[in-house]
Amino acid sequence: MQINTKLAKIQTLELGRDQKIQIDVLRLDLIHPVISGNKWFKLRYYIEDALVKGYTEIASFGGAYSNHIVATASACKEAGLNSIGFIRGEAQLPLSPTLEMAKKFDMQLIFLSRSAYNDKKQTIEKYKNENRYWIPEGGYGILGVKGAASILSDFPSTDYTHIIAAVGSGTMMAGLLNGSREHQQLIGISSMKNNSSLEKEIEFLSSADSMKRFKLFHQYHFGGFAKHPKELIDFMQDFWSQETIPTDIVYTSKLFYAVTDFLKKEYFKAEQKILVIHSGGLQGNLSLPEKSLPF
Ligand SMILES: *Cc1c(COP(=O)(O)O)cnc(C)c1O
Repeated sequence: MQINTKLAKIQTLELGRDQKIQIDVLRLDLIHPVISGNKWFKLRYYIEDALVKGYTEIASFGGAYSNHIVATASACKEAGLNSIGFIRGEAQLPLSPTLEMAKKFDMQLIFLSRSAYNDKKQTIEKYKNENRYWIPEGGYGILGVKGAASILSDFPSTDYTHIIAAVGSGTMMAGLLNGSREHQQLIGISSMKNNSSLEKEIEFLSSADSMKRFKLFHQYHFGGFAKHPKELIDFMQDFWSQETIPTDIVYTSKLFYAVTDFLKKEYFKAEQKILVIHSGGLQGNLSLPEKSLPF
């Protein structure tokens, strides 16, 4: 299956020039319109594993707005695999744009009540089938982390002193920690409110040692996961007019807001070199009313 990760490019922000701080954005949003950003990196080794082992179908879990679900559907379609998505909560009509798109990629959707959804073991037991390969929610697992680590080996990244990325399940961040070097500091911006188990989940897939180089910020959620008050939409519009970088309402807008806030607070020093991972996710903006955003 062909996803050309070389379509990603580095874009240096105007922001930070005054303080002589080089802030480079790794535009992973450019690699594919749907399987964009970190989702391809997290999926790549699962899909390879499923193909090598001769499975014909992939199953995974996610909510109605899950970038992971639609990326899985699209990646499976391209790889010639069937896909099935177990979706949190009862079906709400009309379906979210994310689920509509997953269906277009021929993903079969099965809706689970919240309690059933939370008992993944039971679901896997119930729907087990010899042709079906299971990918954990959000790609959270060893192969997902291995894929996320490859973000830093696919692009020249060793010069950077800091690497900043949005955090959902923490899979990407664990991979970035594993793929980074001793001299690099990692910064995570949580998209959730009060997710106090996140650090532990990241440490579980990386190491206590690398956690010493990691700091997680919890105060940039704008009200909670996927919440997008007007203040955030305004920021996304301003950021677009200044940098021509599109952002999504769940992860990357909050990430770049945090970056601008760090600059305001003079968090970085002049000789430091910052890499911000644009992890994609732009399809999530389809849930906004039309013309909410200029990109
Ligand atoms: C899924 C996602 C994340 C979070 O990745 P995790 O590995 O779950 O932490 C960040 N940014 C975007 C755009 C995403 O779609």
